[in-house]
Amino acid sequence: MNTNLLTRIALTDALVAEDNAEESGFLDALDRITCPLHRRWVHQCCHSDSHVSRVSGHRWCRPCGRVLEVAVDEVRATVALRCPKCHRGARTRADAQLVAACEASLAAARHPLRRAA
Ligand SMILES: [Zn+2]
Ligand SMILES: [Zn+2]
Repeated sequence: MNTNLLTRIALTDALVAEDNAEESGFLDALDRITCPLHRRWVHQCCHSDSHVSRVSGHRWCRPCGRVLEVAVDEVRATVALRCPKCHRGARTRADAQLVAACEASLAAARHPLRRAA
């Protein structure tokens, strides 16, 4: 069984399903487990600067004005955020949303046979 192929198919399926759900108003863009910009699982590209939003506070520590560091542990399927200045972890609702989306995408990518959509 080719796991890489199955994972790719699962990703493509999830991307299309989430594109449709977002387009029709059923899904918040920030709850997506696939990235509409990078076309990857969100945990695979959440490190990108494109995922920093000063407006919504995603990957952003507002009091410090700094970008949060994100650590994805693929083995334990956990995601942690950390501010390089005040050293806080995930705390705000935006942080919780980002961590939840990344952990869900990790889980979906790990179990390609269980369709994400
Ligand atoms: Zn992305
Ligand atoms: Zn901070």
